[in-house]
Amino acid sequence: MTQPTLTLNDGKRIPQLGFGVWKLADEDAPETVGLALEVGYRSIDTAAAYGNEAGVGRAIAASGIPREELFVATKLWNDAHGTDEALRAFDASLKRLGLDYVDLYLVHWPVPQRNAYVETWKALMRLREDGRARSIGVSNFTVAHLKRVIDETGSTPSVNQIELHPRFQQRELRAFHAEAGIVTEAWSPLGQGAALEDPVIRGIADKHGRTAAQVILRWHLDLGQVAIPKSQNPARIRENADVFGFSLDEADHAAIAGLDTPDGRIGPHPDTFG
Ligand code: NAD
Repeated sequence: MTQPTLTLNDGKRIPQLGFGVWKLADEDAPETVGLALEVGYRSIDTAAAYGNEAGVGRAIAASGIPREELFVATKLWNDAHGTDEALRAFDASLKRLGLDYVDLYLVHWPVPQRNAYVETWKALMRLREDGRARSIGVSNFTVAHLKRVIDETGSTPSVNQIELHPRFQQRELRAFHAEAGIVTEAWSPLGQGAALEDPVIRGIADKHGRTAAQVILRWHLDLGQVAIPKSQNPARIRENADVFGFSLDEADHAAIAGLDTPDGRIGPHPDTFG
């Protein structure tokens, strides 16, 4: 599998396609993540809150793939905002993963009501200086949260991982990312499966002899963002990795752009969650 990558603002590279593992049970992670690595994924997106870092770590160890060929990301949960809490949470994640560094460490949610995300970001800056987090970023940050971090620390997150799929295209946030040099990473890139039923997507899939999931993933890649689809089904894991042998045309892109809706959000709002 060809591995297109994007260059982060710290000079490191991130694969454009990753494997998401939310809701994957720890005991199932070795087999499922093991299969993902076998079929060619090299980037795994986990989180302390997913409860499967240990299983992901076991899959990585069992794969025999050299560490430097993998891109492992995990996230700091909402109960670990603050300097000491963040550093401790990071140590615990690293230990569960069985690694001595991660490629990307993210603040999972801003939790603005705690008003500690700037302090937490400074702790991540220390982890990057130590080299134990090669790159650092955030997740679910709005333009206002990003601006505050950048203004108060002078440091721009390398990545913002956000809900993003055809029915929720986050144009304003993506425009800010482009301006600030932040890579956009799409969570729930398939709209948790719902976007796959859309007749416009199905029509484009039929036209190219591809599946709806492949069309949506190709759309993400064409927009220059990272996508981290999740599946536990072996056929779908393979299908979602097979997105490099075709292209979408301008009409396809225009049609998908038209699917964006104001009420397309599936997950919680970052201003209130946590
Ligand atoms: P997704 O959009 O990847 O959809 C996954 C679901 O779609 C699967 O459970 C399956 O039901 C279906 N599916 C997947 N491939 C398919 C295929 N080829 N054909 C038909 N159906 C298919 O949703 P997700 O799991 O919510 O998001 C992906 C990853 O994003 C997560 O695993 C996690 O790593 C990350 N995530 C991050 C946050 C965050 O707050 N940062 C929140 C949610 C998810």
